Amino acid sequence: MQPENSPLDQRGTGELIRLDQVTKRFGDNTVLDHLDFSVEAGKHVTLIGPSGSGKTTILRLLMTLTKPDEGTITVDGQRLFPASDKEVREVRKKIGMVFQQFNLFPNMPVLRNITEAPVTVLGLPKDEAEERARELLDLVGLADKCDAYPAQLSGGQQQRVAIARALAMRPQVLLLDEVTSALDPELVAGVLDVLRDIARSTDITMLCVTHEMNFARDISDQVLMFDSGRIIEAGAPEKIFSEPEQDRTREFLSAVL
Ligand code: ADP
Repeated sequence: MQPENSPLDQRGTGELIRLDQVTKRFGDNTVLDHLDFSVEAGKHVTLIGPSGSGKTTILRLLMTLTKPDEGTITVDGQRLFPASDKEVREVRKKIGMVFQQFNLFPNMPVLRNITEAPVTVLGLPKDEAEERARELLDLVGLADKCDAYPAQLSGGQQQRVAIARALAMRPQVLLLDEVTSALDPELVAGVLDVLRDIARSTDITMLCVTHEMNFARDISDQVLMFDSGRIIEAGAPEKIFSEPEQDRTREFLSAVL
């Protein structure tokens, strides 16, 4: 048992991510319209909905790859928007992201792909970073690929390295943006199994955009259905997938399931 007031006691409780009245426009296109939502620490939240409904934009806002036009975003009680560059750098350390395209460094072997940011950004000693990288490669089932270059790996293997690389920064939040969409169908299951394992065996908070509805049903504590930049329905996966309240959710699910 953890002693009282241990920092570990705090994980898995309380609000970790909060968006208040967030609006994002691209020209005349209002992609998110005064959006409110929050994610509790340790929870796995999946964003579903038609293409263009604003799901990826939310992940990109959290990664500070784009800025909102209005509203506030906080992570772990710290401001991400509006915020100074210093505040943003602090908050960004809490967030890891895996993209549809794996974006590995092609000129570096797998192990160095994973140790590069912990060493250069966090200042971790090389030995420690390598030990941690090996543990993570084991977790994603690629313990024997330390010395391989990305081009020598399948897409599924590259994506598993990208997951290990994101986890190497010890983020509190893992953002997953359609991480299996660019993979050949036979490679999808291996990546989803790794993510199921991470969801089950760690206390990391996950925010996930996916079209893999069985996966969403398996890992999610909460599913948010988006349409035209708004959350039109939210609830436990059993509820959203089996008894959706909105016609739009029913139509969407019957098209993708
Ligand atoms: P989803 O993830 O639900 O498919 P996105 O968040 O990717 O939706 O996109 C929402 C809307 O924002 C779409 O209409 C898309 O065309 C638009 N959009 C996204 N990124 C940009 C950008 N960089 N420039 C202009 N429009 C964009």
